[in-house]
Amino acid sequence: MLIAIDGPAGSGKSTVARRVARELGFTYLDSGAMYRSVALLWLACPTREPAELAREARIELGERVLLDGRDVSAEIRSHEVTEAASVLAADPRVREQLVAKQRELIGTGDWVAEGRDIATVVAPEAALKIFLTASPQERARRRAAELGADLATVRAELTLRDTRDSTREQSPLKPAADAVRLDTSELNAEQVVQRVLQLARAILAP
Ligand code: C5P
Repeated sequence: MLIAIDGPAGSGKSTVARRVARELGFTYLDSGAMYRSVALLWLACPTREPAELAREARIELGERVLLDGRDVSAEIRSHEVTEAASVLAADPRVREQLVAKQRELIGTGDWVAEGRDIATVVAPEAALKIFLTASPQERARRRAAELGADLATVRAELTLRDTRDSTREQSPLKPAADAVRLDTSELNAEQVVQRVLQLARAILAP
């Protein structure tokens, strides 16, 4: 079974997806970590074709993110990589490569996969589709607290990433028609986790 959790940066996807996966004994797939890993390779080799880098990259996801056997868990969270991943994610050939890798992973077993296009492109057959949102101010506040960074700067960067993600031609960020939309602005992570678990359990044991 697959639970897809999509939404913009700072909507709580990672925290919620990770905890829901743990509660249900499912495996957690952080698709953003794949875009970030390719961005890291691209920053190191800017003359290489990004889609080629995406094709060749050996990305292992788990407690740590391993790129070609190297632990890049911390590096892929840098400001530079965040920016580059957002730019790369608009390249349809990069997406094609990474979507193929994601489909291969979720092909067997039980997963909670999070990203921007899981329910719309990667796995429209997902048993449960959740689209998380929160107000831009609240999302920026969460991100700034997480990074220990200036709120105004984080908000400006978030707006830029949101615009790129939702206006790109290929797989723009948008809720699937049959997704359950949850506005997390006024909810804490635990409340969102409980709501998703409730929805999941209704499907697992109707
Ligand atoms: O979720 P996270 O912020 O780690 O994702 C990094 C970048 O990768 C996002 O800004 C987004 O542009 C891109 N992304 C995507 N599709 C996904 C996951 C991430 O376009 N499924």
